[in-house]
Amino acid sequence: MIRQNLENILSSIKEVAHCSNRDPADIKLVAVSKRFPVSAIEEALAAGQIIFGENYIQEAAEKRQHLQDRVRLHFIGNLQSNKARLAVETCDMIETIDRPKIVKALHKYLERLDRRLDVLVQVNVGEDPHKSGIVPNEAESLLAYMRDFPRLRLRGLMTMPPFTSDPELARPHFRRLRLLSEEMKLRGLLGGNAKIELSMGMSHDYHVAVQEGATLIRIGTAIFGQRPPAPVIRS
Ligand SMILES: *Cc1c(COP(=O)(O)O)cnc(C)c1O
Repeated sequence: MIRQNLENILSSIKEVAHCSNRDPADIKLVAVSKRFPVSAIEEALAAGQIIFGENYIQEAAEKRQHLQDRVRLHFIGNLQSNKARLAVETCDMIETIDRPKIVKALHKYLERLDRRLDVLVQVNVGEDPHKSGIVPNEAESLLAYMRDFPRLRLRGLMTMPPFTSDPELARPHFRRLRLLSEEMKLRGLLGGNAKIELSMGMSHDYHVAVQEGATLIRIGTAIFGQRPPAPVIRS
C-alpha cells in the first residue's frame, strides 16, 4: 500500500513537472510520518523513500533512535526553544524557523556541538492568525538577523496556506512564497549561489505547488493513509 502510494505520487510529480517545464529531479518528496509508527517508515524506506517529516520533536528523536542515519528527518512542527538541543541532535533540516528566539537557541547548541544545520524560514503567507510562521512583511528582517548566525544554513522558505478543499485557492499563496523568495534573493538575503528550496504543497494540493515552483513537497495522508488521532510514540 505505502509502496504503491509512493509510486503513484512520484509519477504524478514527474508528470506535473514535465507539463510545467520543470526538472523532476529538482523536486523532493518529504514523507510526513508524524504519528505513524516506525514500521510505517520502514515500509517507505524499503520502497526507496529517504526524507521523512515529523512535527513532534520527542517523537522524531525516538524514531531517530530506531532508524539512525538511514533516514533524513525534516522537522515541520512548531519548535519550542527549550527543545532546541534535542532538535539539533535529531534533525537534518528544520523547516519552521519563524522567530529570532529559536534562531538564537539553535545556534547556541550548534556552536557547542561544532555543527551546522540546514533550515527554512516558515512564512505565514496567508497572514492567518491561527498559523505559525512569520508574516511576509517581517521576513526580510528575520533573514537579515539570521546572517549573524551562520551555523544555521538558510536554504529557503516554507509555507502552509490556510486549509481549503479547493487546491486552486492555495495557488496564490504558493506563488507569493516564490515571489518572496525571489525578492529576498535580489536583496542578497537568500540563496547566494545555491538553489533556493521552497517547501510547499501537501496531499491535496501538491500538483498546484509543483506548478508554482515547489522543491520540497510534504505529503502524509496520501502516502500513509489516515493519521492516528494521537501520537503513537511520546516520551
Ligand atoms: C501534517 C503536515 C503535512 C502533511 O499533511 P497531509 O495532508 O497529511 O499530506 C504537511 N505539512 C505540515 C507542516 C504538516 O504538519
